[in-house]
Amino acid sequence: RWVFLNGEYKRKSEAMISVFDHGFLYGDGVFEGIRVYSGNVFRLHEHMVRLYESAKSILLDIPYSLDELEAHVVETVRKNQLVDAYIRLVVSRGDGPLGLDPSECEIANVVIIVDKIRLYSQELYDKGLTVVTVPTRRNIPDALNPRVKSLNYLNNILAKSEAKQAGAGEAIILSSDGYVTEGSSDNIFMVKDNVLYTPPCYLGALKGITRQTIIDIAGELGYPLKEEPFTRHDLFNADEVLLTGTGAEVISVVQVDGRSVGKGVPGPVSKDLISQFRKLVTVDGVS
Ligand code: PMP
Repeated sequence: RWVFLNGEYKRKSEAMISVFDHGFLYGDGVFEGIRVYSGNVFRLHEHMVRLYESAKSILLDIPYSLDELEAHVVETVRKNQLVDAYIRLVVSRGDGPLGLDPSECEIANVVIIVDKIRLYSQELYDKGLTVVTVPTRRNIPDALNPRVKSLNYLNNILAKSEAKQAGAGEAIILSSDGYVTEGSSDNIFMVKDNVLYTPPCYLGALKGITRQTIIDIAGELGYPLKEEPFTRHDLFNADEVLLTGTGAEVISVVQVDGRSVGKGVPGPVSKDLISQFRKLVTVDGVS
């Protein structure tokens, strides 16, 4: 494997960052996870735009133009010769003295890793996932705004651990007001009476690229879609629930907090959306 590190390609074992990097010391930085399908980087530009917006939000200068960095991503994929892969693009604040002040840091560290990923087994994609709502809530303000894909993922990590401890496959995180926001690393949709619902991102969700892809597919297939807040009660009584994310792709949820969703198996709307999504990434992976 070749890792892009500040303009150079390093072997996996030689790609190193200083312990004085503020990404390591304080979680000060931003990142993206991107898929490669059949040699095509899926929705690359959308991911780059989100990365630069996250960086701007936390006053982080990325030492490349968006176009330059986009080209480096493509070149790193090419160099690794993987046709189906996952890209982890990280921009951290860079090396600096102890103390929070980011203006003391010289220059951001930019890393591009290309590797394989598999979040869930095929069985879970076929049969659907069990989820639980967790005690960890969403942080809305400032840099911890979930719209910023920052290196501070502790909330999500705790949520995932809470779900695992409860024997579930994924966590559903609620806002401080108790509205459903998203999973630990995916967005959530539900289907009720053939209408799709997804929470608005201002409640505390990342504006997922896969979420947008599913919104677009739903439009093409003629499913009405409403972006509006909903609660656990709505989820318990939904006909179908599904999660979307770069890592998870699109996966059905068949149980929420011990209540089976609909008939307890992946429903027809979810199956329709999933098969359209698969078509899009296999036939038309370029974007
Ligand atoms: N929410 C969170 C918290 C995430 O980390 C992710 C994964 N990036 C998502 C949602 C899904 O976003 P995307 O579809 O862009 O991967």
